[in-house]
Amino acid sequence: MIKDCLKDHCGVFGIYAPGEDVAKLAYFALFSLQHRGQEGAGIAVSNGKKINLIKNLGLVPSVFTESSLKKLKGHIAIAHNRYSTTGSNTINNVGPFIIENYLAISHNGNVINADQIFKTLPPIKLLSTTDTEIIAWAIAKSNKKNIIDKIKSVMPKFNGAYSIVLMTKDSLIAFRDPLGIRPLSVGKINGHFVFASETCAFDTIGAKYLRDVDPGEIIKIDNSGLKSYPRKSSSKKSFCLFEYVYLARPDSILNSELVHQVRQRSGEILSYEAPVSADFIMAIPDSGTSAAIGYSKASGIPFAEGLIKNRYIGRTFIAPSQRIREMGVKIKFNPMKSIVRGKRIIIVDDSIVRGTTIKKIIQILKSCGAKKVHIRVCSPPIKYPCYLGVDTPNRKELIASSLTVEKIKKYIKADSLAYLSLDGLIKAARQKENSLCTACFTGHYPLKINDNFKKTILEKNEQ
Ligand code: AMP
Repeated sequence: MIKDCLKDHCGVFGIYAPGEDVAKLAYFALFSLQHRGQEGAGIAVSNGKKINLIKNLGLVPSVFTESSLKKLKGHIAIAHNRYSTTGSNTINNVGPFIIENYLAISHNGNVINADQIFKTLPPIKLLSTTDTEIIAWAIAKSNKKNIIDKIKSVMPKFNGAYSIVLMTKDSLIAFRDPLGIRPLSVGKINGHFVFASETCAFDTIGAKYLRDVDPGEIIKIDNSGLKSYPRKSSSKKSFCLFEYVYLARPDSILNSELVHQVRQRSGEILSYEAPVSADFIMAIPDSGTSAAIGYSKASGIPFAEGLIKNRYIGRTFIAPSQRIREMGVKIKFNPMKSIVRGKRIIIVDDSIVRGTTIKKIIQILKSCGAKKVHIRVCSPPIKYPCYLGVDTPNRKELIASSLTVEKIKKYIKADSLAYLSLDGLIKAARQKENSLCTACFTGHYPLKINDNFKKTILEKNEQ
């Protein structure tokens, strides 16, 4: 049943704004959240009586047209960019989902016990293979009367990461798992409230960032304004540290820190931890750029552009097979030969996952005559899979899970390789260590991941 795909790493958006063109605002917000999901996109709009939906596979501009957006009339909207590299890439798995004509939902995260929750529900025919649809049904089937009590009654049953925007015909609701694993923020536009996975969406539509939705908090917006239902107990928080490293856009603010500055600081710290002399520093654009600027600033070695990125290509990770992924690197990055020839280069990148990208880039640079290529990675080695919404599911595929740094250096054929320490990264993020999920680096998961779920993910990735 839901074996096919239990995971989403997505971008979500919600707006309650009578008198505004909410569909268009949602459309532009989705544009700025495109990096969080490129498989499909959808917008659902309520006019108080009916919820209408447009969704499809593909990038945001290919899913909606000026005239299709005009059909989405109303004052509340929720929207979704879907990302999932495994599982079926079908329109049925693209959000938002509408349940029983009165409830629409968009979700970023991964509820790992959705399978078990589904078994406790009355017989339901699922239309997708996502945990999101099960979350929605669990809420819809709660015997509580109002929507807030329904959500409150089922939240303790959900195990995992969830940043959710949900819409009834006359209200917009946002809530976040008690550990606050994935981001979700609230903003204001012309006196109306908006929610988004990342604050860059607020900047795009001209909304002001107010604050983050607190872990475990439920916020409801309706014609009487905003009402918050904070979580009652437990102050433990476990925000995904990898959001700072790679997932979020540099111009977003996560837990009061601008991601670009976090990355810049991580580059600075890495330059102290692992200095090396070179003629210039390069980034792998765009994810490594902020960190490379930091490394350059702290080391005094000039920053230069040596690789030009074709920005019309999506994230290489999205491609399902290793062969296509390898080709993707070449399609995506073109070196400028006269700049790299004969030079000692430091490449600063955000992370190494499988090692495909960096190996290929070193090969390309060396074939252009680069004298030395030193690799500096602004995160610790990724050794453990993420079960909470990021596509690093299979341990066997993570190069650092089986190889030492020295062996990785040899495999990727770098002249030297160094990773940022976990302490260094946490310092750069300016967060308390016990408020972060560091599982991909340490294997310490903030909640129990049951073996069945691990097996499902593993089987999925071996298909
Ligand atoms: P690779 O080592 O070839 O598997 O790819 C590593 C690069 O992919 C990193 O430098 C990031 O820029 C990017 N990356 C890291 N994590 C993810 C992810 N979960 N989804 C997509 N791209 C990622």
